[in-house]
Amino acid sequence: MYWQQELETMPVEALRALQLSRLQTSVRRAITSPYYQQLYQQRGITADDLNTLDDVKRLPFTTKQDLRNGYPYGFLTVPKTEVVRLHSSSGTTGQATVIFHTAADIRDWANLMARCMYMTGARNSDVFQNMSGYGMFTGGLGFHYGAELLGMLTVPAGSGNSKRQIHYMKDFQTSVIHIIPSYALHMISVFEEEKVNPRDLHLRIAFLGAEPHTEHTRKRVEDAFGVKAFNSYGLSEMYGPGVAFECPEQNGLHIWEDSYFVEVINPDTLEPVADGEIGELVLTTLTREAMPLIRYRTRDLTSISSEPCPCGRTHRRIARIKGRSDDMLIIKGVNVFPMQVEAVLMSIPEVGTNYQIELETVENIDVMTVNVEVRDDFFLGDVKGLTALQQKITNALKSEVLFTPKVKLVEPDSIPEAQGKAVRVIDRRVAH
Ligand code: AMP
Ligand code: ZN
Repeated sequence: MYWQQELETMPVEALRALQLSRLQTSVRRAITSPYYQQLYQQRGITADDLNTLDDVKRLPFTTKQDLRNGYPYGFLTVPKTEVVRLHSSSGTTGQATVIFHTAADIRDWANLMARCMYMTGARNSDVFQNMSGYGMFTGGLGFHYGAELLGMLTVPAGSGNSKRQIHYMKDFQTSVIHIIPSYALHMISVFEEEKVNPRDLHLRIAFLGAEPHTEHTRKRVEDAFGVKAFNSYGLSEMYGPGVAFECPEQNGLHIWEDSYFVEVINPDTLEPVADGEIGELVLTTLTREAMPLIRYRTRDLTSISSEPCPCGRTHRRIARIKGRSDDMLIIKGVNVFPMQVEAVLMSIPEVGTNYQIELETVENIDVMTVNVEVRDDFFLGDVKGLTALQQKITNALKSEVLFTPKVKLVEPDSIPEAQGKAVRVIDRRVAH
């Protein structure tokens, strides 16, 4: 029933003691990176200041902007010869962040992933089809290594190629899948088109993660595929998936407190919120070698519960993610900040001053349309010129956000000026 019984069911007091000693080690290690060394020196902080878990409050938060400022090597604590992999979050111009891993980090991460999947009932007799994107996106290799460690026959299908996915499922008798929720909903219609009933296949477990989704979507996926679906939460800054995962109780996600020190704060006052209250999740890595992060502000909004779980695991549970405390959008599983779009548009001379991002759901897939005001002199030009401009903007945006948006060129002053803050994003997507 447990992948690591002792750790997963550790009495809470012992778990807190383990956290404290790991926290001290992690901070001691972090201080050897250029970023934390400078920061802690300025503030007169040393690892000796941490005598209780509560002392963590003396340490400053780390933000995504800090990671950007330290790009690429500012947070590294080991010689480059010890680094075996990196993952980078989406975004190419000035928005990129990078996370490095030692061989031990990769093993640690794989172990956490195996723990999550084993918890849901996946076993080495299963065939696991990983239908998430690979590459820099951590849902690919993260799940892949964990599944292999668990001993499942692992099919690195990647995302897309829906018809081929169905073939794999049939030919290899896939029983466990990992898929982002919007793609899972899309697959339901592909199954219909192909006249294949997924319930007739061998599927029994699905892991849904990487983007916000509702209980309703879980039910739809469970009913259509004939599986139990489990919520998978993580972020690249903390390895990736494997931070928190649902157990068979499907009532909150156990957050692995032997690997992460967890806080939930009010994003405005930065003070901790009470159990059950919604706040921003703040995480500190407790085991990572190459790049420890201290009090990282995830910007994800959730609440935490210390209620004992009938499954016997003592690690606390977070609720399904409720939203974000910043303006980051998750489009087709890809993180997009409106500022990224703006930066691309404003670097193109023909573009005017106003633009608007519209998001819709078409056949369960996110569609982003960018309405762009074109400067007067260009708008009066010929159609050929406008088509070329539209293509140029599309390509520029694509290389930034890594998927193809729709670009609509509009006349100057045709996008209504907002009273006060510009309304840059209109999100008409149906909540999954
Ligand atoms: P990335 O680092 O690109 O994998 O993106 C991580 C972000 O994706 C998180 O900070 C969340 O905002 C979002 N995310 C990941 N998993 C989930 C989930 N299960 N539910 C809601 N949002 C999620
Ligand atoms: Zn549980």
